Amino acid sequence: MRIVRSIPELRVALKAVRESGQSIGLVPTMGFLHEGHASLIRQSTARCDTTVVSVFVNPSQFCPGEDLDRYPRDLERDQNLCLKLGVAILFMPEAAEIYPTGFTTSIEVGPMGDALCGHYRPGHFRGVATVVTKLFNLVQPDLAFFGQKDLQQTSIIRRVVKDLNLPVDILVAPTVREPDGLALSSRNAYLDPKARQTALGISRGLGKAERRFQEGERDAASLAATVRGELLDMDEIQYCEAVDPVTMDILAGTITRPAALCVAVVLGGTRLIDNVLLSPSGVVTQFISHLESKDS
Ligand code: AMP
Repeated sequence: MRIVRSIPELRVALKAVRESGQSIGLVPTMGFLHEGHASLIRQSTARCDTTVVSVFVNPSQFCPGEDLDRYPRDLERDQNLCLKLGVAILFMPEAAEIYPTGFTTSIEVGPMGDALCGHYRPGHFRGVATVVTKLFNLVQPDLAFFGQKDLQQTSIIRRVVKDLNLPVDILVAPTVREPDGLALSSRNAYLDPKARQTALGISRGLGKAERRFQEGERDAASLAATVRGELLDMDEIQYCEAVDPVTMDILAGTITRPAALCVAVVLGGTRLIDNVLLSPSGVVTQFISHLESKDS
């Protein structure tokens, strides 16, 4: 595995890969890797000849007052995990490598970036879209892997890929959970044992609503209310809504097409998000594959 910190080094390493005709998979992360990240890396190594993982705590996606400075980091553990999983190139740039002096350009994602998480984290998705687009340009992957856990992020990335005709396919892998249901997240490290226990209300509520949906309940508000019923001990419910998983528009009334129940809460100063997909046809897909996002 090559550990690469500079853009010129990355370009040289990838030129050789591309010239040998190998396919390239990219897994963008902010590090402090866990099984959720590992599942994306495994999907990439299974599908692509060469897997590139980026570990970059992207300053531009943090709002003032957020946890940029204390975001958990363990570069040595990340390196060991990537090595074990068969990653070919681990790209770990410093912020100045990605945002050199004079950097001003960014990707404006439109109204989709202002809804839900975007409402509570102004500019967050501009930062995400900008860094992911830069990574796509640098790595030029055939496939890029993202987690369903950050559903709005995946929808926005697919939108950007489509709108800007970026030649990459986006694959979205299911959320990996702890045995008790809590969605894995680097930010779970912030939770004390009591908050960790309270946080289980999120997956419990989503699970209950999912079961009601499977039993035939189709009313968006009723399903969201089922989730909310398990969120009473959270310090703040930022949102709990049924949404269209492609546009992220909030759904009201009867659910007749694929939807997602999405939640964001604050607990002990930590912001947690989670979601479940609901498919009226009952088809459970392992991947939400959006091949239409590729410009061909
Ligand atoms: P992050 O390091 O939090 O920016 O996440 C990097 C990638 O891993 C994103 O595509 C996330 O959606 C994905 N990811 C994070 N947590 C999970 C999880 N529990 N299951 C699956 N994918 C995840």
